[in-house]
Order: sequence, then structure tokens, then C-alpha cells
Amino acid sequence: MIEVDDVTKRYGRTTAVHGLSFTVAPGQVTGFLGPNGAGKSTTLRMVLGLTSPTSGTVTVGGRRFRGLPRGLCEVGALLDAGDAHGGRTARAHLAALARGNGLPRRRVDEVLAQTGLTSVAGRRVGGFSLGMRQRLGIAGALLGDPPVLLFDEPLNGLDPEGIRWVRGLFRRLADEGRTVLVSSHLMREMEHTAQRLIVIGRGELIATGTLAEFAAAD
Ligand code: ADP
Ligand code: ADP
Repeated sequence: MIEVDDVTKRYGRTTAVHGLSFTVAPGQVTGFLGPNGAGKSTTLRMVLGLTSPTSGTVTVGGRRFRGLPRGLCEVGALLDAGDAHGGRTARAHLAALARGNGLPRRRVDEVLAQTGLTSVAGRRVGGFSLGMRQRLGIAGALLGDPPVLLFDEPLNGLDPEGIRWVRGLFRRLADEGRTVLVSSHLMREMEHTAQRLIVIGRGELIATGTLAEFAAAD
């Protein structure tokens, strides 16, 4: 469960998020929709604990943000598919992440298999397509087996088969009882991805509801 309560985030004179409140429940895939610049990444970064709200509170699994990044066993995230070191192999990247977070080495092979990367695990990330980088980012998010998962624009760079696969994965993770939040700037990407939507614009909440409710309002 994620609870964002009256959160404002300012960067100097820019207000990225303004008085934002919403909750994300476990057991379903929730879409986080808004145009570029709406404040989605800023909000996800605050949920992860990578940056602090200027005011308001962000609670994850009942724990309030305390100024430190949340651990991989608490929240997993795909924030930026490009952030793995290009000179490392996929396996070495995940092994370093596992080591740095005190996770057992066997998790590396488990998440490689889970994301369909086993056959390319020994290749350098620098030669990966965007779609493979997305899979690697998702593998990193799954490493700590966390109850809460955040995916920022995860469909970027995926081919139709990759999109079907990732949608199935999100659904399975939700069915396992996890809290799954997926951002996008495209409503059509959400249609077969999310069961519930949170829509923001200019840092403020515009609407929340089930996909069926949004479809009926169209
Ligand atoms: P989205 O993810 O929806 O595209 P962002 O959260 O990235 O939106 O950005 C929201 C607003 O906050 C934008 O105006 C953006 O320029 C600004 N912003 C985001 N991060 C920073 C930062 N580190 N410093 C200054 N402004 C930022
Ligand atoms: P390093 O020691 O290599 O800097 P970190 O654990 O600090 O490794 O972070 C590596 C990358 O993982 C960073 O780009 C960061 O944004 C991202 N990250 C941090 N916390 C999480 C998390 N809980 N889940 C997924 N990715 C995270």
C-alpha cells in the first residue's frame, strides 16, 4: 500500500507536485497517467525515498519516509532504463545490485529467468536494445522480492510481444498481492495494463477511478 498525503514538491521556483493525495492498493495494477512534465517521476522518486517532499507525507507499507532511500526489499523500481553501466554484463550488473543490498546471489539467476534474460546474461549492457534494458531494469526491481513495485514508462522501447509479456508480468505480480504502480503519458498504453487509474496534470490530481469508469466516461 502506498499513501501520498497532501504532498508538494518544489525545485526552486518550479512546483513539480502540488497538494497531491492518492492511495495505491495491493492486488491490482494501478496506472499513473499524465502528460510529460505532470510530476509522475517526481512522485515515484518520493515514493522510493530518493527525494523528500517539500511538504506532506509519503507512506509505504505503513512506514513514513525518513530521508533515506527505501531498500530493494521494500520497494522495487524501474526508473530509468538507461542507468545500468554499459561496460558490465547484465549478470554482473544484477550481482552488484544484489551484493550492495545484502541479497542472496541466487536471486540474480531467478530474476534473469523471470525477465527472459538468461540467454543474454553474459552480454555487456552497452549492446542492449532499449527493450532489453527495460527488462534488465525490471529484473533489478524484482531482485529484492518487494511488496511494492514502481515502473516508470516501462512500455517504452518494447515491441508488441514485449508489451504483452510485461503486461502479463504486472498482472501476475498484482495477483500475488503486490502493489504495482505503472506510469505512462499515453492513455492507450494503460488500457490493457491497469485496472485502476490515477490521472495527474501540472502536479495536481485530476481524477481516479477504475478503467471501466474511464471507458464509460469517454
Ligand atoms: P513527468 O515524470 O510526469 O514527466 P517530472 O516529475 O519529471 O514529470 O517533472 C515535473 C516537473 O518538475 C517538470 O516541470 C520538471 O521540469 C520539474 N523537475 C523534475 N525534476 C526536477 C529537478 N531535479 N530539478 C528541477 N526541476 C525538476
Ligand atoms: P550504486 O551503489 O551502484 O549507486 P544504488 O543501490 O545506490 O547502487 O542504486 C543503483 C540504481 O538503482 C540507482 O540508479 C537508483 O536510482 C536505483 N535504485 C535505488 N533504489 C532503488 C530501489 N529500491 N529499487 C530499484 N532501483 C533503485
